[in-house]
Amino acid sequence: MINLPMPYPQELIYSTVARYKIRAGLISPKQLLDDVFEDRGVVATVDLPCHLSKIANHYPHNRFNLNYIAYQHTLFPLYAPFIPESRRQECLRWMANHSQGAIHLAIGSNASRLPSVKYIRYCPQCFNEQFKDYGEWYWSRMWQIPGITCCSKHGSLANSSVEYRPNSRHDFIAPTPHNCNINPQGSVNEDDRFLISKISELLSLAEQSSPTFEQWTTFYHSLARSSNCIRGSKHIDHLCILEKVKNRWSLELLETNNLHRLESETGWLRGIFRKHRKSFSYLEHIIAIESLLEQDWSFEEIMVQVKSQTTTLPSKITQAKSNVKPDSELIEANRNIWMGLIKENQSIKGARKINQALYAWLYRNDKTWFMNTNKNCHQRHVPKGLTVNWQRRDSEFVRSLIKINDHTCFDLTLPRKSKKVVDESNLLSLND
Ligand SMILES: [Zn+2]
Repeated sequence: MINLPMPYPQELIYSTVARYKIRAGLISPKQLLDDVFEDRGVVATVDLPCHLSKIANHYPHNRFNLNYIAYQHTLFPLYAPFIPESRRQECLRWMANHSQGAIHLAIGSNASRLPSVKYIRYCPQCFNEQFKDYGEWYWSRMWQIPGITCCSKHGSLANSSVEYRPNSRHDFIAPTPHNCNINPQGSVNEDDRFLISKISELLSLAEQSSPTFEQWTTFYHSLARSSNCIRGSKHIDHLCILEKVKNRWSLELLETNNLHRLESETGWLRGIFRKHRKSFSYLEHIIAIESLLEQDWSFEEIMVQVKSQTTTLPSKITQAKSNVKPDSELIEANRNIWMGLIKENQSIKGARKINQALYAWLYRNDKTWFMNTNKNCHQRHVPKGLTVNWQRRDSEFVRSLIKINDHTCFDLTLPRKSKKVVDESNLLSLND
């Protein structure tokens, strides 16, 4: 057990480890890894670090448990409410031990659309306050959130010279006057202030189990209903939602966060109001909820609402739907079209690209046949690609060798070729 400093409020655990390095007077990153993790393979990760159980072991047992560190000193709570419960549990297990990048993949699907942070950022005036309170600087997690460019109290964030995901991945670096140039700050606008307040709510939510995708689906459906964005009895009016989003948010803010392709049939905005099959990022949730709810709201209330959604109704609807089977002629016709497409494109992927609607229809209405057919097609293609006609290859080689010999046997400028030379080189390679 080493004397790891206590983390400060909102401090990244990455930063606590970096401060230990300074306090212990360590220069070598390897020595730091030995001290803290007893493992030189640990990657210094700013946002979603692993090996937290090793860190927790350096504190008295009643002080911190692992989930506390994940929820108070990493960016995990920004993603946790939006991934299904089983994945949340899996991510916590990865953070306790190691994940070999799996955690970024599991969460990354929803984070990848947001702009990436290139350098660890800081707020110069917060540094002043930290120095006054604690006599040193540390990296706050509030500064490292993709999509947030300001400190809520003071103004725009500045880039340090410390890379967020550096090539030399094993060093933990604390803020110093050397890697943070203090420059004047730009001011905070209203939207930034709003986003930061919502993100602070997420970061301070108590640890809880995550809602299911079905509950999120039902929540957004009822949100659309209560905001009069429903056509007929149950169809989402995507145009009405689009108008509300455009009225509330500037194009600039949406563009800087890669969330501006709102009209797209396959874009995030339509996706979040359809059946959820993947998770959405905190920014997408904030933008959608804020556009439709024309009143103050908090994530605490939203989480209660989402988790109270009973999903029996939609499943009843799907059951009723699945009882109405399409007639066999239609199934037969669509099967034929699909087989034709596979033949034409030589792959399931290619066929799917050409007729996505057919792919979805067969998946819904003729799943067993569809999956089996696709599986067989995959299997059939692989061995074909690997088949080699050895006899043909041998005779081609022999023909080429005879040709080479015919061309070169009377060329006296070439090196000597004899049985002896060949035998000698074989002997040499045997001796190797
Ligand atoms: Zn600040």
